Amino acid sequence: MAESINAFQMAQRQFDHVAQMLNLDPQVAEILRWPTREFAFRIPVRMDDGSIRLFTGYRVQHSDARGPAKGGIRFHSAETMDTVRALAMWMTWKTSIADLPLGGGKGGVPVDSASISFTEKERLCRGWIDQMWRNIGPRQDVPAPDVGTNPQMMGWMMDQYSKLVGQYTPGAITGKPLGGGGSLGRTEATGYGVIFTVREAMNHLKIDPTKATAALQGFGNVAQYAAIGFSEILGGKVMCVSCWDRQDKIAHTFSHPDGINPRFLQSITDQYGSIDKNKARAAGYLIEDGDIWIAKDVDVLIPGALEGQINGESVKRISDRVKIIAEGANGPTTPEADETLKSRGIFNIPDFLCNAGGVTVSYFEGVQNDMNYYWTQDEVLKRLDTKITIAFNSVFEMAQKEGVYMRDAAYMVAIGRVVKAMELRGWIS
Ligand code: NAD
Repeated sequence: MAESINAFQMAQRQFDHVAQMLNLDPQVAEILRWPTREFAFRIPVRMDDGSIRLFTGYRVQHSDARGPAKGGIRFHSAETMDTVRALAMWMTWKTSIADLPLGGGKGGVPVDSASISFTEKERLCRGWIDQMWRNIGPRQDVPAPDVGTNPQMMGWMMDQYSKLVGQYTPGAITGKPLGGGGSLGRTEATGYGVIFTVREAMNHLKIDPTKATAALQGFGNVAQYAAIGFSEILGGKVMCVSCWDRQDKIAHTFSHPDGINPRFLQSITDQYGSIDKNKARAAGYLIEDGDIWIAKDVDVLIPGALEGQINGESVKRISDRVKIIAEGANGPTTPEADETLKSRGIFNIPDFLCNAGGVTVSYFEGVQNDMNYYWTQDEVLKRLDTKITIAFNSVFEMAQKEGVYMRDAAYMVAIGRVVKAMELRGWIS
């Protein structure tokens, strides 16, 4: 019978594998295999009909060795303490790979965000902070939005925190709305960050970006700006993007013989990342059913939608022309497909490096909140480029030096930095 493991056990296994490669002292490894702190609490919320419903809240601080814990809060019906633990551990590696002075944390509430009203959401957000405010803050742990939460909800959380501590403290939460302590450039950050890593990979592989083509999965926040960046920053051609059709319950791939125009497609896309089929067809776009994006004859594939999309089966459909896979989404490649990509010599930019642009600009938001001085969009994106370029190159150099795959190299750099901070603070010797 196939063994089933939960997300946290998977995160621990990945860690154990790299701990072995790094020859990490087993006592140190034991510390990092577990979250430093975990909170589980109940949140009674007055519902619109006058009844009281009891919600459960979680917050996990995996590591604060390099700085305050950092990570989103998910409102999702499948959330458990174990999913939150796994995501918190992955955040430790993501902030470390981007060399941000932050650790890793994550929070959650098992609830379908769409099932509660706007006002119930506000009371739930404020209730979450009522339970957690003593253990979060700009120097302790800084939450942010994630699946099922948004900038407005972060605005309420920041307000509740500020009321409880008795002073305006925007840096306690990031991902806030613009004008409410948010940062310019956050919307573009993850997608543009993906493109900065692709540019660096092309540079090392001696690929001319102006002659390069790409196919993307997804057309939400990440994929829209990855597509715009690929054509406007790199000068390359995006041959197709795809999205989920909520009415037909099927994925569609949108392509154009001259390459797609991402700004045009963005203008006919709704807030959930679904492109208007009729308007696209009228503009000469070819619309194909299913996940044909993966089989396109292009130089770069950017999975930017969901996890597990490049798997043991779909990996066989990847064209021989593909030289780079840039993981915009979290966890898009299964371990089985990873082995095939390695043997085919396809250059992989692992998710926690490739999509670290989002958390990097979240960090910039906290920095601007601390200074009480806000940068222009241009300043934010230039600083993002610098951070991501340095992150990419530290991983690339490790991969070359140790002769390992980019994903292993990324883990080695990230874990190595956390261990170093623990040593410098005298936690271990
Ligand atoms: P989103 O909800 O804005 O967009 C998701 C897109 O995927 C939509 O266009 C949707 O139609 C499409 N999609 C869904 N199912 C599909 C399918 N079967 N085939 C093709 N397309 C499909 O989400 P997002 O914020 O762009 O996030 C995408 C991925 O990137 C997720 O894995 C997320 O965890 C990760 N990520 C996001 C950020 C960020 O800042 N937004 C940061 C780091 C990682």
